[in-house]
Amino acid sequence: MTCQSPLTSGPGPGESRGRLFIGPMASCKLHKSFVCLGGAHFIACTNPICTHAIVDRQMRLLSIIKTPLATRWSFVSLTAAVLIVITAAGGILLGTQAIRLFEDMRVTWQRYDQVSEQKITYLTQMHQYLGFSGLTQHLKDYLLHGDEHLITWIDIDLDQAKNAVDSYRLLEIGEAEEAALSELRALIMKSRAQVSEIPNLRQAGLSPAEIDKQIDLNPAAAIAALDQLRWAWRQQAVEAQNAMNATSNAGANLVSYGWVFLPVMALIGGIVFWLVNRLCRQVTAYEREKEALAKSERKFRDMADNVPGVIFQWYEKRGGDRGYLYVSPRCQELYGVSPDELQRNWQALAIHPEDEERYLQTVQEAFERKAEWSFEGRFLTPKGEEKWWRGISKPVPLNEEEIVFNGVIIDISLQKKMEEELRSLATTDALTGACNRRHFLHKADTEIPRAQRYNNPLAVLMIDLDHFKTINDTYGHAGGDEVLRTFVNKVKETLRGPDVLGRIGGEEFAVMLPETDLQGAVALAERIRTDIQDANIRWDKRTIKATVSIGIATVDKNDKDIHDIMARADKALYTAKSEGRNRVMISRGKVDLSADSAPELLDLTSTEPGPHGAN
Ligand code: GH3
Ligand code: MG
Ligand code: MG
Repeated sequence: MTCQSPLTSGPGPGESRGRLFIGPMASCKLHKSFVCLGGAHFIACTNPICTHAIVDRQMRLLSIIKTPLATRWSFVSLTAAVLIVITAAGGILLGTQAIRLFEDMRVTWQRYDQVSEQKITYLTQMHQYLGFSGLTQHLKDYLLHGDEHLITWIDIDLDQAKNAVDSYRLLEIGEAEEAALSELRALIMKSRAQVSEIPNLRQAGLSPAEIDKQIDLNPAAAIAALDQLRWAWRQQAVEAQNAMNATSNAGANLVSYGWVFLPVMALIGGIVFWLVNRLCRQVTAYEREKEALAKSERKFRDMADNVPGVIFQWYEKRGGDRGYLYVSPRCQELYGVSPDELQRNWQALAIHPEDEERYLQTVQEAFERKAEWSFEGRFLTPKGEEKWWRGISKPVPLNEEEIVFNGVIIDISLQKKMEEELRSLATTDALTGACNRRHFLHKADTEIPRAQRYNNPLAVLMIDLDHFKTINDTYGHAGGDEVLRTFVNKVKETLRGPDVLGRIGGEEFAVMLPETDLQGAVALAERIRTDIQDANIRWDKRTIKATVSIGIATVDKNDKDIHDIMARADKALYTAKSEGRNRVMISRGKVDLSADSAPELLDLTSTEPGPHGAN
């Protein structure tokens, strides 16, 4: 992709002054290959209209980010706020968690403490009632002494032990405790059943030793079950201890997390701050860039709108692919064609058919030479109006095959009109509209040598108004002027395209008739003479009659210039005057085109002076 930046300044193709969310290159729909972007800074398309569109497209993402957060500092404050909220939330979370854990631990410990105390009480009671200070001792005493009241004590011991077991069972107990308690309860129940048999055995005459053999209270088994229960209780205590240790560890972990959490948060905060700060800088740069672009675009548009002409960009490709890439809005005002229309179809503004070939030739030449282009010609507006324009442009070659021309078209219709008026003033007699003497002589200077070179006929008439002084005296100078104007109009009506009428002096005129031989010149002169003679010139409610005398001469190969011919014609004119005026004379004689004398015309070609000759 080739990048060109003829209308803007900035980094060159592929350069970039920063990085942003945009790609390094972008293409313009209209100009395809010669648009590129570089990082945050873009190189404008050669068409300034397109530049904005591209930038907008590329910057859309950034704009979205930017919109709710207008300034750099609001970004920073937002980041700080987010960080504070995250840190605070994290702190609260950690703190709550830690408090909950310690509360759990406290409750667990309290409950454990309470239960433990009760269990110890019950265990102690069980020991007391089933051990040597209870059942075991009372049974022993009974067997030794046979005191009946000891049976009651034994009963009480078993009741108390059973109560302790039942109370213990109501507490939070584990499986092992449950098993030990069941065992104990079964032993107690069994012992009670046996104790209730003792009075019967005594009545049957059995000695305490024999009774001892008969019944088996098995306090050792009770002691073993009690040991089992104690062991289970200890296990419970270990578990509770473990649970508390776990809670304590969790709390310690939370504290460690806190130590890690804060630096991590600080790091994340730092990174986020750095990123946001960087983003802010880029947004600011983008804002400035966009503002500068908008400013430059405004400037360009102002210029394009106010420049006294049409700014354009012309695309030319080898093979004839061409057209306007850009046309400034003044085109509509100056030529009645909208820039869009002209960009779609460059021929919407038709070049004058007479200028078209020359126009295409200059474009082709400029393309081949990669040179500046300039042209002066005419447009035909859609309304059919003819407008003169001058175009100049500089080429910006894209490659060997494509060139963009940046230039301006200036309307020179007014200038052309003024030039035409000036030219007319310089060449035309202001009063009559005939050529002035200088212009007449100038035209003759080119016509005479041509006639001589190609041996073409050419005649010159010298015409003088008769008694013009008298006309002036009679009708005033203005009346005389009117006669002069009427005379010129009448003569012009008679002349053909190449004929030239010139005012040589006050009331003296000359007519140059290219491609006209003597016979034709005589016929024309006679027509002029009769036209004037017959004309009724109206002036100040009066009618003026005028006549003219005409002298004719034709070109000769020996004539040096027009003056030689005019001198001969003048001579004939002088003769016409002296012969009585209102007549036509050739340098050799009078011309009388009345019916009778018409054949004499043929003799006019003779070199001999005729009867009315002027020589
Ligand atoms: P002739 O038949 O011998 O030519 O007589 P004439 O009176 O026409 O000749 P003359 O040369 O004596 O007079 C020419 C007059 O034409 C004199 C001059 O005042 C007048 N004249 C010259 N230029 C103008 C002009 O522009 N307007 C008017 N109204 N008169 C002019
Ligand atoms: Mg005169
Ligand atoms: Mg005169």
